[in-house]
Amino acid sequence: MAKPKFQTPTGMHDILPHNQPYYDKIYETVKKISSFYDFEKIDTPILEDFNLFVRSVGENTDIVEKEMFTLKTKGKDLLALRPEGTAPIMRSYIENGFVSLPQPVRLWYFGPFFRYEKPQAGRFRQFNQLGIEIIGEKDAIVDAQSILVMYSILQEIGLKDLVVKINSIGDEKCRPIYRKDLMKYLREKKNSLCSDCQKRMKTNPLRVLDCKNEKCQQVLVEAPQSVDYLCEECKKHLKDVLEYLDELKIPYCLESKLVRGLDYYTRTVFEIESTREESCGVVLAGGGRYDNLAKVLGGEEVSACGAAAGIERIVSEMKESKVKMPFSSVPEVFFTQIGPLAKKKSLPILEELRKSGFEVGESFGKDGLKAQLGKASRLGVKAVLILGQKEALNDMILIRNMQTSKQVEVSQKDIVKELKQILKEK
Ligand SMILES: [Zn+2]
Ligand SMILES: [Zn+2]
Repeated sequence: MAKPKFQTPTGMHDILPHNQPYYDKIYETVKKISSFYDFEKIDTPILEDFNLFVRSVGENTDIVEKEMFTLKTKGKDLLALRPEGTAPIMRSYIENGFVSLPQPVRLWYFGPFFRYEKPQAGRFRQFNQLGIEIIGEKDAIVDAQSILVMYSILQEIGLKDLVVKINSIGDEKCRPIYRKDLMKYLREKKNSLCSDCQKRMKTNPLRVLDCKNEKCQQVLVEAPQSVDYLCEECKKHLKDVLEYLDELKIPYCLESKLVRGLDYYTRTVFEIESTREESCGVVLAGGGRYDNLAKVLGGEEVSACGAAAGIERIVSEMKESKVKMPFSSVPEVFFTQIGPLAKKKSLPILEELRKSGFEVGESFGKDGLKAQLGKASRLGVKAVLILGQKEALNDMILIRNMQTSKQVEVSQKDIVKELKQILKEK
């Protein structure tokens, strides 16, 4: 088959009708669980000031260096298609004076994000993300709650084999000492690092820990670990988070190399991974604490914690682990019509049935009764309405009970009453 002239842009995809039930299920689950935990929904614009992400995510991150879609407006503003959700939400929190509301402010979101990634399986340039943020609380219980909410969402969606990987990267008090020691260690091993890491070690050494290159991984086996450098407060915070997870019986393991690469994280960082044999290690959600972000963006100091998950990855995990999906609703009633007058009178009758709460199928494009009845029996409906020329003239209609094959003629004004009766009969 010849390629069609127009296709979706590289790394972007249609969400086709047969995939929509997965998105609906995820959306409904996030909505239900986050509303139980008192989260309110927020939508921020797709486009934001380019510098919002440079300041928050960090200049020396892959997102800002390589992955942002940017555009200049006619008014010469430099904007970016949002690559992530936390910075825009903190921008909104500051801009709308949410700091004067009762704290913490709990928000959730669901929508498209954009990153100029190398095209590869499972990576999209336009992808969807869901996320939660708890802003205005420094207690470790909200770190545990962020993990709990994300974990519960994934479980409720139907993904059962999950583990939380967790680490603490300290705060402005203890992280600089760790950073210095890590840099010193990396400098000694510089020649064994990949070229990306040789650059990263100067600007953002923690990101070297993220490198998937095997040579780098080997170098890192003996690298200093952030948990050994935590100050008393950070140590206590991590201990508290882990104790909450113990109480919740959420399976977790400490992962000393987990840093999550974005500049705004402090203390807790975590990821939720699949432990299913075929997809073991696939990251389904991630998040952490970001106590400095508000200040970096020009607001007051506000403690916060949150998490996000990529929806495309969840959908593919749902499919692979054969999550049962609800069947799409099948109509109980099918409407058929014969002749031009009947056809004209069809739409108002269908409207009346819709308003009375019936699910009704039809096949208006086909005028032959046989073809229409064929579709009705394929759908397995319980009753068929037949509006012929004679019935249309007399304001009558035929109702055929498909289980008993009995057929009655009723007045059009009694359709609803009669149909309800027939659908009740077994
Ligand atoms: Zn590397
Ligand atoms: Zn600390």
